[in-house]
Amino acid sequence: MAECPGIYKLSEMKDGLLARLRIPGGTLSSDQARCLAVAAKNFGNGTIDITNRANLQLRGIKPNKQTKLIDYLQKHKLAPATPEYDRLRNITIDPLSGLVEEKVDCRPLAKELEQRLKTLNSPEQFSPKLSIIIDGGGPTNISALPHDFAFKATMTVPATSKNQSQTEDLYFRFILCGELTELLIERDHLVSTVLQFLENLREGSEPKGQGSAGKKTVHIDQLREDQSKNIRPKTLLNNMSHAELTKLLLTDISTIRKQAKSNSKKKPAEQKLNRPEYITQQKSDEFFVVNLVSPTSRLQYYQLQGLAELADEFGRGELRLTSWQAMMLPYIKEKNLDKVWERSEAMALLTQQSEQNLQIISCIGSEGCIYGNFETRLNSLNMRESLTDLVSLNPVSIHLSACEKGCATRQKTDYLIMQKRGSDQLTLHLNAAPTTKNPGKPIQQDQIIKELKKLI
Ligand code: SF4
Repeated sequence: MAECPGIYKLSEMKDGLLARLRIPGGTLSSDQARCLAVAAKNFGNGTIDITNRANLQLRGIKPNKQTKLIDYLQKHKLAPATPEYDRLRNITIDPLSGLVEEKVDCRPLAKELEQRLKTLNSPEQFSPKLSIIIDGGGPTNISALPHDFAFKATMTVPATSKNQSQTEDLYFRFILCGELTELLIERDHLVSTVLQFLENLREGSEPKGQGSAGKKTVHIDQLREDQSKNIRPKTLLNNMSHAELTKLLLTDISTIRKQAKSNSKKKPAEQKLNRPEYITQQKSDEFFVVNLVSPTSRLQYYQLQGLAELADEFGRGELRLTSWQAMMLPYIKEKNLDKVWERSEAMALLTQQSEQNLQIISCIGSEGCIYGNFETRLNSLNMRESLTDLVSLNPVSIHLSACEKGCATRQKTDYLIMQKRGSDQLTLHLNAAPTTKNPGKPIQQDQIIKELKKLI
């Protein structure tokens, strides 16, 4: 399988080379946004994707411009100095962090973790897909996104001795590859715990004991060889049980506590991501966050430039990337909302709730990806034209995926239209994620809108 792209390792796609810029924490300054818009225009084809981990992808980069692109990004501090370190910075937090009511603002933790990852030994041994979510307990439930490690802020009572007090305190509950654990981590220990988890994975120690039924206990060195030195917890679970992996991660860690009175049964974490409405009031009543959506699921360089200008003119020069292919502008005063919407509409962005209720997400499809034969962009534009009026009151989510990898989202949507790799047949699935095992209902491309109109 081709390695995940980054800034230093570009992927070859149908529309040219693709560079993925990891934006740990998902916040961009307006200056950074402008630089990225210039990079997309000067070195690529001007198209920018927002990924399902709130990173950015510049598309259509010409091979002879790769070096200039790297120089440019480094000059503007958008690329770290070392490729090995770049690939590890998959840190996602709630895009509303610090703006709305939550248990803890995770932005400083994301920043600290990004810095401390630089100190990790042999970062090249880890998979560039290894993803970490820090969820401050805000409204979007960001830890519902697929991940390797997630930490969700919770007020809880740890298991204590009788003499100790039983008052609730803030901890991060550890979620390993989508399964809740009983493990609680104090805020001050969170970053060092993640680092220790990674060291333990790298060092590797064979879990003692018999292992779970049906799962093989294997030495991590062997796994490392098998995976071309791409260590990733999710992949390790193919060969060891969840309990064995947890035990391996906990090697030499004494700062983790267990939850009191918890159900000892392993439970899946809450899976639903809550996408905010087109406008969210901030903690301070004075300000709002505006959610802006592109009807094509991707931005053009001039839209990013325009958003940077809006952030400077009406906000605090800050933009937030989301996992649902939208951009957010925080710190907008009520009196300026109309101006922001008007200018965003002029940039062909969707601003109103009635339009955003039709939540269409799509991968690049046949336009840019060698794995897809389904033209996702044209279909999503046609859908938007035909279906918006039908969903003006209640949100409906539709995912167009040109293969089962689900690059746009791995979440379930109300309707999924997918073409599996190697197949000519489109299929329609209800309430499904691209990993669904259900074969779905075969559907012709020219029948999709008619069928959706019947269902919605
Ligand atoms: S989902 Fe499949 S077809 Fe779409 S971009 Fe990803 S790999 Fe390509």
